[in-house]
Amino acid sequence: MTKIKIGSHVGMAGKEMFLASVKEAESYGANVLMLYTGAPQNTVRKGIEALNIEAGWEYAKKAGIEEIVVHAPYIINLANTVKPETFELAVTFLTREIQRTAAMRSRILVLHPGSHVGAGVEAGIAQVIKGLNLVLDDNEDDVFIALETMAGKGSELGSTFEELKMIYDGVNKRDRLRICFDTCHVNDAGYPLVKDYEGVLEQFDQVIGLSQIAVIHVNDSMNPCGAHKDRHANLDKGYIGMDILKRIVHDERFADIPKILETPWLCEEGSTKKTLPPYKEEIAMLMRSER
Ligand code: FE
Ligand code: FE
Ligand code: ZN
Repeated sequence: MTKIKIGSHVGMAGKEMFLASVKEAESYGANVLMLYTGAPQNTVRKGIEALNIEAGWEYAKKAGIEEIVVHAPYIINLANTVKPETFELAVTFLTREIQRTAAMRSRILVLHPGSHVGAGVEAGIAQVIKGLNLVLDDNEDDVFIALETMAGKGSELGSTFEELKMIYDGVNKRDRLRICFDTCHVNDAGYPLVKDYEGVLEQFDQVIGLSQIAVIHVNDSMNPCGAHKDRHANLDKGYIGMDILKRIVHDERFADIPKILETPWLCEEGSTKKTLPPYKEEIAMLMRSER
């Protein structure tokens, strides 16, 4: 049996940058990690030389971390047809982000497909396709763009498997696309993961193909199936629950795929500030054989 690839989203800041990310992951007992190359809510980025990639990987090898995933900032919106500058920024940024991802020796860049901001699903998807083609047609990096399954909050695209498939169908280099399967989002989008785990995966398999899943985001959800909210809960503290989360993490079909926790940080006793990462305990919970 292959070792389960499990980790969490980690930070990348300070002088150590990537080295700090690796040390953080190690402290959780993780063997994979996911990071943003800067703040997820803006597009300000340091140069590649400032990321401390070499030192980070040297440490990672010793710590048993062999794989990392990069997440593009959620502020970029390839689906925007309303503001040309937003779309152009998304295209330019994504091009650079692929280069940064390759420089960091990651093969996976997770991307939220985008929001149509009122223009409608069809127009939004056409714009995402246009953007991905602009980015990928001239790019030869060894990096997949993993489109994330979304909760369907607001005008978010990609909350149905069919919408994601439509994007695949329009992209010239569709072999550069993969999927990031987020359990909270799939639940919130209305797929009955809890009631019918196998059925949901079968549906995914028919529309896109299970082999396209390149990352799994392991999150519980604060809201019931179909709520379209996208609020992550700590494991076993939400509507999905431990049984299903464990099932997907241990599912043999996904043995080779990194599983990444994006659950909320916790507050210290008597405080309202979220200062405690839950990941060490949550990774241990997922690895325990009994409940
Ligand atoms: Fe995401
Ligand atoms: Fe996610
Ligand atoms: Zn989310």
